[in-house]
Amino acid sequence: MSEDLAARTIAATNGVAQDTAFGAVIAPIHLSTTFKFPAFEQAGPYDYSRLGNPTRDQLADTIAKLEGGARAVMVASGMAALDLALSSLRPGDLLVAPHDCYGGTHRLLSLRGARGHYRVAFVDQTDPEALAAALAERPKVVLIETPSNPLMRVVDIRRITADARAAGAVAVVDNTFLSPALQRPIALGADLVVHSTTKFLNGHSDVIGGAVIAADAAMGDDLAAWANTIGVTGSPLDAYLTLRGLRTLFVRVEQQQRNAAALAAFLDAHPAVRCVHYPGLPGHPGHALARAQQAGFGAMLSFELAGGRDAVRRFVGALRVFTLAESLGGVESLVAHPPTMTHAAMDPEARAIAGITDGLLRLSVGLEAESDLLADLSRGLAALAG
Ligand SMILES: *Cc1c(COP(=O)(O)O)cnc(C)c1O
Repeated sequence: MSEDLAARTIAATNGVAQDTAFGAVIAPIHLSTTFKFPAFEQAGPYDYSRLGNPTRDQLADTIAKLEGGARAVMVASGMAALDLALSSLRPGDLLVAPHDCYGGTHRLLSLRGARGHYRVAFVDQTDPEALAAALAERPKVVLIETPSNPLMRVVDIRRITADARAAGAVAVVDNTFLSPALQRPIALGADLVVHSTTKFLNGHSDVIGGAVIAADAAMGDDLAAWANTIGVTGSPLDAYLTLRGLRTLFVRVEQQQRNAAALAAFLDAHPAVRCVHYPGLPGHPGHALARAQQAGFGAMLSFELAGGRDAVRRFVGALRVFTLAESLGGVESLVAHPPTMTHAAMDPEARAIAGITDGLLRLSVGLEAESDLLADLSRGLAALAG
């Protein structure tokens, strides 16, 4: 399929109607772990599914095109994707990471740092001086996550990737929160993009998966070879399901962010809510930047209840449409309490530095009717008064 197609056309149809055996419009799933050699000393296009698999390759090809990269490598989880993207780091090398990154990422980097696999500097990347000081240490990799989890801080991908390059570092962007439907970091200067495909790309909360997309083909080939060597490549069944979910990425994300914008405005006007973190609100510190570098404000938001942990308990206890659960990006709306759930692995001091307070709640907004979602939040807020 040619590159001049719109991204939403690629998402909906890349690889459709290519089956040469039966003319199947939707490509069959290839679960076979091994592939026949046509003859002695003759290799076919595939030999073993850890290394390569047609179903997984179709998903990788589609994601690579959506992100504008040369090659994507599909792996077993978002964490595996991050670990793979950072696999070039050697003992003594410095990694600069956001101080308020995803909790699992914070754990991965902290433990690898503690084991001496590389050095890590967690930096507030919204603070230009702190970032410049970290770059002066000549890091090998700069990891960017924007909007950040769970406080939705927005950083300038174009500026940070340019500064990283000037300092001799590879720039890696975790694009999980927006998906390529809303943000394309490679066009803004990223060398690698990482996804937890568990989230918006699959979108149906039924597959754990990850992807690394390389701007450069040689870097992508190296990562694919290493993913095969350490055995983290994703399963064909997961790839099949994720590609099916990906077909509707654009319509899902667009409707979900419409719902999120309505909820953010509602919460922002409520006296029991101390503050709302949503880049779509004009008062959000990253609003102008998000408007410039994103194609939309996304379907994630967080907010702080004035009453702290007690208020959180009452609020979530009254909800009927939102489910109290981790994860995000599915068609169903979820509410999470970062201090006790997604970011429980972070030590309390690091959490405090990152601004993750006891009254904070994160919403992943789904495809339900806006009226039902608003009514549910009203129920939760009414429970605070009782
Ligand atoms: C969920 C998530 C991850 C980890 O992905 P898994 O698929 O759960 O391993 C990494 N980064 C971000 C931003 C995430 O939301």
